[in-house]
Amino acid sequence: MQGGSRRSTSREWQRRAYRWRMARACGEPFVRQRALPLFVAERTRFALRFTCEYCTYFRAEDERCTHGYPNAEHKSAHYEQSPDDLLFCKDFELL
Ligand code: SF4
Repeated sequence: MQGGSRRSTSREWQRRAYRWRMARACGEPFVRQRALPLFVAERTRFALRFTCEYCTYFRAEDERCTHGYPNAEHKSAHYEQSPDDLLFCKDFELL
């Protein structure tokens, strides 16, 4: 049981390392742009889910990204303070 757990942890770290290398090779994990007023309006109107809190790789217990990306600007709270600043994460996967 413990060996299996250790093996799955090792595989998880291998996956993380692979994704991290890919992110570094492909540049930033985020695409940054200025949000158009239409997007800001529709984000609220349609309750768009694109922030870390709705991503598979978000760890709720410490609010960090499993891939190790700096996610302070990609959480919902950031958009309440800076609604015109828009980041899309290339690794986002909807829960
Ligand atoms: S959206 Fe990107 S930064 Fe945020 S948790 Fe998912 S993979 Fe990490």
